[in-house]
Amino acid sequence: MNETKLKSLSKTDKELKRARKCKFCGTQRGLIRKYNLYICRRCFKDYATELGFKKLD
Ligand SMILES: [Zn+2]
Repeated sequence: MNETKLKSLSKTDKELKRARKCKFCGTQRGLIRKYNLYICRRCFKDYATELGFKKLD
């Protein structure tokens, strides 16, 4: 069992649901909520590679 990790994940999930804003720059414009990313289009483009998304073009 790993209770510490479970609590940490649970807390993060709640914070993300409350925030409704980009977790990198804090903007609410162009927010992508798909896949529970909660980041804006601009940051998605910048962080896509780091987050494990491959560029399509
Ligand atoms: Zn952003």
